[in-house]
Amino acid sequence: MFDLPALRLGRLFGIPVEVNVSWLLVFVLVASSLAFNYFTVFPDQPLWLNILIAVVSSVLFFASVVMHEVSHSLVARAGGTRVRKITLFVFGGVAQMEDEPESPGREFAMALAGPAMSVAIAIVCFGAWLALAVAGAWPVLLGVLEYLWVINLGVAVFNLLPGFPLDGGRLLRAVLWWLTGDILKATRWAAAAGRVIGYGLMAFALVGVVLGNFGLIWLALVGWFLTTMAEGSYRSQLARSRLHEVSVASQMSAPAVVAPGDITLETMANDYFLGGRHSKYPVVLGGRLVGLLDMGELKRVPRDRWPATRVADVMQGDVGDLLVGADQHLDSVLGRLGGDGPGALLVVAEGRLVGIITKSDVVRALHETDPHAHSPA
Ligand SMILES: [Zn+2]
Repeated sequence: MFDLPALRLGRLFGIPVEVNVSWLLVFVLVASSLAFNYFTVFPDQPLWLNILIAVVSSVLFFASVVMHEVSHSLVARAGGTRVRKITLFVFGGVAQMEDEPESPGREFAMALAGPAMSVAIAIVCFGAWLALAVAGAWPVLLGVLEYLWVINLGVAVFNLLPGFPLDGGRLLRAVLWWLTGDILKATRWAAAAGRVIGYGLMAFALVGVVLGNFGLIWLALVGWFLTTMAEGSYRSQLARSRLHEVSVASQMSAPAVVAPGDITLETMANDYFLGGRHSKYPVVLGGRLVGLLDMGELKRVPRDRWPATRVADVMQGDVGDLLVGADQHLDSVLGRLGGDGPGALLVVAEGRLVGIITKSDVVRALHETDPHAHSPA
């Protein structure tokens, strides 16, 4: 689902916000059900006005979902967890974190932040609805406010269901983790609860569909999605726990083969990329690490300009985000190398570059530590 293209909307508090194309489907579903069901309680409205109000209400609803994710993200960031982006997709919103929280307390605070925001929005909308209702405001405005407080309360309640990876499941995991001191066991139990809730939602929805309520097909899909996510998150926690046993230093390529920043791309292509085993090289100038050069960056420069272009002119210059300590564990680099991350990190010890670690080093370590892996022989 996240492989589908996404549309960048902008940044909130420095965090990129995007919508996955799958979200367009749910936007159309929500807006049309508002226009042709919910807001038809005002029969004296022209149709175009119903549609307009429905679209505005849907936008406000999805803005509330974004606020829910922003709330998770800000608490995560305050605790030192990097947030890559917030994405709206067909089943709601997700804040993509680069790391898992380090302690049960952090996880608890992060998980609670989203539903707390949804409840806060619900309370504000409820207050406005009540005040305006007493004042005898335009019924359509009251309808929009009523929709917003009810749906935000619904979002909070649904997300607090105690099945991982829903927020309530994360709260459950944090408590189990705190009680047992074992994050893997806590994840296994919380994910099992997630599967039970997912199957429960599917069963409930299918009975409803058989009884003629076809709107519940949606809930069945949500239940299916939850069971899939619960299984996936347990597997990734298992991998993460195994990688926690392995140090970055033990898997990196060392010493790092570095390229001088003042050589030309022509020399770079011949002496480094051609026949070399790396596709990325740290770049040094005067003994100092100044950047990273990827083969892709070289290829973007037209072939005939290679003899006249220096490596330092096309490299990625800002390497602050690419540094990792040699004594860190592989689980801490997993998130940074995954997804559309940089693909390689520069390993430093006591301020000096000592190696380079790539996504394939992590994958290899994962295979080596996998108790179920077997050799092809
Ligand atoms: Zn949430």
